Amino acid sequence: MPFSELVLASNNKGKLAELQAMLGDSITVRPQSDFTDIEAEETGLTFVENALIKARHAARVSGLPALADDSGLAVDALGGAPGIYSARYAGGGGDAANNAKLLEALKDVPDTERGAQFICALALLRHAEDPIPLICEGAWEGRILHAASGEHGFGYDPLFWVPERDCSSAELSPQEKNQLSHRARAMALLRAKLGLQPA
Ligand code: IMP
Repeated sequence: MPFSELVLASNNKGKLAELQAMLGDSITVRPQSDFTDIEAEETGLTFVENALIKARHAARVSGLPALADDSGLAVDALGGAPGIYSARYAGGGGDAANNAKLLEALKDVPDTERGAQFICALALLRHAEDPIPLICEGAWEGRILHAASGEHGFGYDPLFWVPERDCSSAELSPQEKNQLSHRARAMALLRAKLGLQPA
């Protein structure tokens, strides 16, 4: 990274851990909670818009370069839902409530129509008024299982079947997930844009 320190515009512990592991030791990563408890209002209609809103907010409150991740699950049979609303799909209640709502929505949908993608948009701003943000997106294709499986990861990981490994993404080790995931793919593109070696 061309910076020695940046702020990660998220308070999602699962995402923070994965992004920190991908960034490695070359940079000091500060969580947004070091600077404020106030979260940006995600008023965008796309992952990219929301990533930019979050990065701008984090850069503004910290005075540091900011990296934001906006991500979620897009299910084919649901027209791309829950999409940008993935974190609040069940209206609060967290991962367990979201997963229960997703299983209910897909209860009559056969395996062949349970395709889904995890999407990640990363936005990197050098400062809050940066007019040329770096933006990278990554997608991870899979399928929604009929029941939760696995203990790792966070969010919808227990319901997301990974074709490359024939298991759920919650059954992958953190290291394996960080090589395959939507977030890993977006981060690889960002590293390339920054002229950094692959992780
Ligand atoms: P955000 O914090 O608004 O970007 O919301 C992200 C939400 O998408 C999370 O709360 C999860 O529900 C879901 N999500 C994003 N990435 C992952 C992942 O890697 N595994 C499982 N769920 C994810």
